[in-house]
Amino acid sequence: MMSKTHIAVGAAAALAIAQTGSVESCVLAIVGGSLGGIIADCDITPSKAHRDALMGRLIVAGIALAAFAIDYWYGAGVCNYLLESLGAKLVGGIAVFVALTFVGAHTDHRSFTHSLVAMMGFCVAVWLAFEPMLPFFVTGYASHLVMDLTNYQPIKLLWPMKRGFGLGLCHAKRLANSVMLIVGTVATTLLLAYRLAPLFGIAITIG
Ligand SMILES: [Zn+2]
Repeated sequence: MMSKTHIAVGAAAALAIAQTGSVESCVLAIVGGSLGGIIADCDITPSKAHRDALMGRLIVAGIALAAFAIDYWYGAGVCNYLLESLGAKLVGGIAVFVALTFVGAHTDHRSFTHSLVAMMGFCVAVWLAFEPMLPFFVTGYASHLVMDLTNYQPIKLLWPMKRGFGLGLCHAKRLANSVMLIVGTVATTLLLAYRLAPLFGIAITIG
């Protein structure tokens, strides 16, 4: 699937497990879900032919900046947590994350970074650097692998095994991608509204 679709579905999946009425939880879900949703595609080098890869990274950077700015302005606690936990663990986590991204950028598309081994490695990095974001990051990463698994082009889920896995249900860039982009965007919007509604004194009951 394309970057925007992975970002939208990753964010929606993470918001589905976020806490209702908590800005902190929504900030973590939006940033963790969108980052986890796109990081596996660090194996695509942005270029003229791959503008989508560059656009995806810029969108996630924009989302993170906006979410952290809202957190800081609202005093929700995510920025404070990061400042208070500045130390070897956080720096080590970032170093592991950067190293895995570097390795991923030098491997074939849909191989190492689309495996359970890489997912576990990235999760260790996030756990070290920013533990509260871990469940949302895992959810976003898992959504990426599940969506790519539906495509014709296989992914090496069990890397270093050479065998690729793909259900062959759809193409990564065609109708299914557009449908999932719309579903992900609508779900993200509705879930965010639902999670934040109590803060505005709005009670939404389902059923
Ligand atoms: Zn992918």
